[in-house]
Amino acid sequence: MKIHEYQAKELLRKFDVTVPQGMAAFSVDEAVKVAKKLGGPVWVVKAQIHAGGRGKGGGVKIAKSIEEVQKYASEILGMQLVTHQTGSDGQKVRRLLIEEGADIQKEYYLGIVTDRSSQKICMMASSEGGMEIEEVANKFPEKIVKIFIDPINGLNDKDAEYLAKSIGIPNTSLENAIKEFKKLYKTYWDTDASLVEINPLILDSKGKIIALDAKFNFDANAIFRHKDILEYRDLDEENSAEIEASKFDLAYIQLDGNIGCLVNGAGLAMATMDTIKLFGCEPANFLDVGGGATAEKVTEAFKIMLKNKSVKAILVNIFGGIMRCDVIAEGIISACKAVNLQVPLVVRMKGTNEELGKKMLADSGLPIISADTMADAANKIVTATK
Ligand code: ADP
Ligand code: MG
Repeated sequence: MKIHEYQAKELLRKFDVTVPQGMAAFSVDEAVKVAKKLGGPVWVVKAQIHAGGRGKGGGVKIAKSIEEVQKYASEILGMQLVTHQTGSDGQKVRRLLIEEGADIQKEYYLGIVTDRSSQKICMMASSEGGMEIEEVANKFPEKIVKIFIDPINGLNDKDAEYLAKSIGIPNTSLENAIKEFKKLYKTYWDTDASLVEINPLILDSKGKIIALDAKFNFDANAIFRHKDILEYRDLDEENSAEIEASKFDLAYIQLDGNIGCLVNGAGLAMATMDTIKLFGCEPANFLDVGGGATAEKVTEAFKIMLKNKSVKAILVNIFGGIMRCDVIAEGIISACKAVNLQVPLVVRMKGTNEELGKKMLADSGLPIISADTMADAANKIVTATK
């Protein structure tokens, strides 16, 4: 789960991390009120959406008077902000962060992520702050410095100092940087975050280290432990089909292709998407209906897939293990009727009661294309799309 920058900064304040003074605003009037309360001489008007690259897209503006705060707030609120992370449709700005302008001497990058291969926490930093970290990784990979933190021991002063020195934080600010790094690590750890990204982390003219931007991602499996963070959820920022799917306990992720896939088991779903790509098409979604796929669940799954207008055909790939193929067939038949299916449907079923399931589909009178192997199914779906 992601949160907005202003929420991330509220969270950071609780952990005593240094962030600029600022407050959220939901209207232009509110933006002006907040700016007056903060006092000048410089304010920053920042679009709040769950995507980075806002500055480049025109969603971050420096204001030098209350009139400018008002002007930028009215320009940014309601705009369809396009960044490299939003896709070409962009994302509508519904909230702003008004904060004090910082006196930036130098911008750094700091990121904290869970590293599965080392089973440690990777803290990475760079002297090249402000720009996208992907770009730094491409152009100057040597300018990204990493340390791996054993979660049993946490971050120690020595490693924090090494990281701070490696990115060129001046000696006079080292002690300050070590403290901020340790507080950021604690925030990451205590909130069950899977990502904390501070880009830029800045050095100001007084030698202070400040988190100027903040991005969090939280482990969805641990979010139940953090009711306060769950309250930060903003459904406007999430895909409506994915929200709908989560209500029915369906693991659904929308993608860019045109073949809808309904599969049981995440591994088989991944393999199905790979096979579709291998045969030259693109999946429209990832969808795992799970082990206990009832007729109701399958029907909801069809409805959710079909909300995506790009879907030109649907491929159902089911392995009947504990779940019997005849039960799945029943689900597919009632789903087809319930949604009045208008796109071609290819079904591949294997496993328990396979013959019975196939017979039920054939006898249903519905135009369902039956397939035997994965390759057969992929071939048939690609032909059906064309
Ligand atoms: P994004 O990463 O989405 O573009 P940032 O919060 O990183 O948004 O802002 C982009 C740039 O705007 C920063 O790199 C920094 O140079 C400037 N900026 C952001 N907040 C402030 C602030 N409070 N004071 C001064 N400059 C800021
Ligand atoms: Mg940023």
